[in-house]
Amino acid sequence: MNEYYDVLVVGAGPAGLAAAQAATSHGARVGLIDAQATAGGQVWRHDVRHAAPSLARRSIGGALTHSRVDWLARTQVVAVETGSLFVEDPRRGSRLDYGALVLATGARELLLPFPGWTLPGVTGAGGLQALAKQGWPLAGRRVLIAGSGPLLLAAAATAKRHGATVLGIYEQAGADAVRRFAGSLWRWPAKAIQAALLRGQLAGVPYRCGSVVRRALGDSTLRTVELEGPHGIEQVPCDQLAIGYGLLPNVELAQLLGCELRWEGAHPQVSTDIWQQTNIDTVYAAGEVCGIGGRDSARVEGAIAGHAAAGARSAAMALQPRRRHARAFAEALRTRFALDARVYALATPDTLICRCEDVALSDMDGYTDTRSAKLATRCGMGACQGRICGAALAELGRFSGGGQRPPLFPARLSTLGDTDFFPLATIEE
Ligand SMILES: Cc1cc2nc3c(=O)[nH]c(=O)nc-3n(C[C@H](O)[C@H](O)[C@H](O)COP(=O)(O)OP(=O)(O)OC[C@H]3O[C@@H](n4cnc5c(N)ncnc54)[C@H](O)[C@@H]3O)c2cc1C
Repeated sequence: MNEYYDVLVVGAGPAGLAAAQAATSHGARVGLIDAQATAGGQVWRHDVRHAAPSLARRSIGGALTHSRVDWLARTQVVAVETGSLFVEDPRRGSRLDYGALVLATGARELLLPFPGWTLPGVTGAGGLQALAKQGWPLAGRRVLIAGSGPLLLAAAATAKRHGATVLGIYEQAGADAVRRFAGSLWRWPAKAIQAALLRGQLAGVPYRCGSVVRRALGDSTLRTVELEGPHGIEQVPCDQLAIGYGLLPNVELAQLLGCELRWEGAHPQVSTDIWQQTNIDTVYAAGEVCGIGGRDSARVEGAIAGHAAAGARSAAMALQPRRRHARAFAEALRTRFALDARVYALATPDTLICRCEDVALSDMDGYTDTRSAKLATRCGMGACQGRICGAALAELGRFSGGGQRPPLFPARLSTLGDTDFFPLATIEE
């Protein structure tokens, strides 16, 4: 299949949905792609048991039901060429040509290895949310939430709504940093209301600052979590640990396209101008792929990108004050929830760093670049293609992630063979 879109949007989270709606308001024909079966991205992930918030329903409905939007669910970008994306859905591979492309590929969790992090019963904080929303049973389970940032509150609220007993939220940032962050929320009233609502839903759940998970202990499953807090070390028996150390932009597609990146600590994000345009004229980027900023920032950047990609810069210009205001929140998040040195020292030599291929941290000794470590140990060669272990190694200061080459995700051979876009003959032996 070959299709042409005036504006092609990758990612149907808040940024991509806003981009699609903005572009159609100028008459553009829009293609909206997402690897997931339902639109909404991370924050509005479809919940099989609970209705979506009204803003999510309006945003999703507004974009997907528009006659000029083609909604391409369960569609993953595999490879790129100037002006085209090669995608795969459950049935076939296709080529999608575009006048302008908007990358709204969002973010994923940063997972930092510690002893026991691969035990059944241990997941990311957002990972637990995703499982619960997809119907994984949590009722009656004792859940401990840990790591850093406001996502912990959202994860705890989801777990509680799905019937879990939330034993506590253990935030690694110190009490002073958290207090200052909370004290600055009046500048973003919508965030202040969101935080107050979450605290209301979590009444009675302890929130401990300056606390780090040292180990997860168990046999065939998690039994106990060992924490280090301001009052020393404690062990908490539980069934489930949900732990996340913040988010990382999904820049792989942007990298493959040749977009310029800038670095925030150990991790890259896509660099754009005020129109959300990258260094490539036809490629725009919006939302968390441009740096972690939350839902509101993603929505306004998505709208700017959609207007600009459809050639309506005056509409995009009108949104600039909202964008600056929303991005200031991102800066507050970054400084107040900076990671404590303790979290970098938790992995021991035999802690698995690559859980897809069972590679231990000590197996990385002696390697100074991703490629040689990967070739010798298979680290990063599993299902996640280095998205988890590569980010962890960069964060631990070992070495940063390498470049990208197609296929971006493991793809079916039939898909690759279907097209001259990615001829099988080019695959190296
Ligand atoms: C696991 C997780 C849970 C979160 N939960 C919350 C929460 O409860 N509350 C909250 O306020 N914030 C939450 N966040 C933060 C959230 O990411 C943002 O606030 C908001 O969703 C960002 O919007 P976005 O549109 O930039 O990206 P996202 O919402 O992340 O959307 C990006 C979309 O792009 C798709 N995609 C990415 N790459 C490709 C590709 N190559 N091909 C096809 N599709 C692709 C993804 O499937 C995804 O649907 C969560 C983040 C994560 C990682």
